[in-house]
Amino acid sequence: MPYITKRKISPPSHKEEHNERRNSKWNKYYGNSRWKKLRDWYMSLHPICADCMINGRSVPATELHHIRPFGTGKDEAEKMRLLLDPDNLVALCSDCHDKRHFILNHTKQDDYFNTDNN
Ligand SMILES: [Zn+2]
Ligand SMILES: [Zn+2]
Repeated sequence: MPYITKRKISPPSHKEEHNERRNSKWNKYYGNSRWKKLRDWYMSLHPICADCMINGRSVPATELHHIRPFGTGKDEAEKMRLLLDPDNLVALCSDCHDKRHFILNHTKQDDYFNTDNN
């Protein structure tokens, strides 16, 4: 009898689909040319993760975090203002960025969009 290996065929990843949809929603913001310029400028001024620096570590910042998630803006104009406000930004490494979102009750900015209709 031939030995049949049960190959586990993984179903299409819903997570990835979700991410993709999320990304297209974000593109409007993160694809914004003013945001890109601001991000580059901010990262050049703040190359070290702010949270690691507090703990005496020098870890390169790779991500920008919005202290007040710009998705909380009540309308498009306010979202853009929050997105592009340098006082609303903090440069972090990805670990610290995750931690910040963990502290925000697991709330990624995306979730704020989902509450828009409330
Ligand atoms: Zn860090
Ligand atoms: Zn963030």
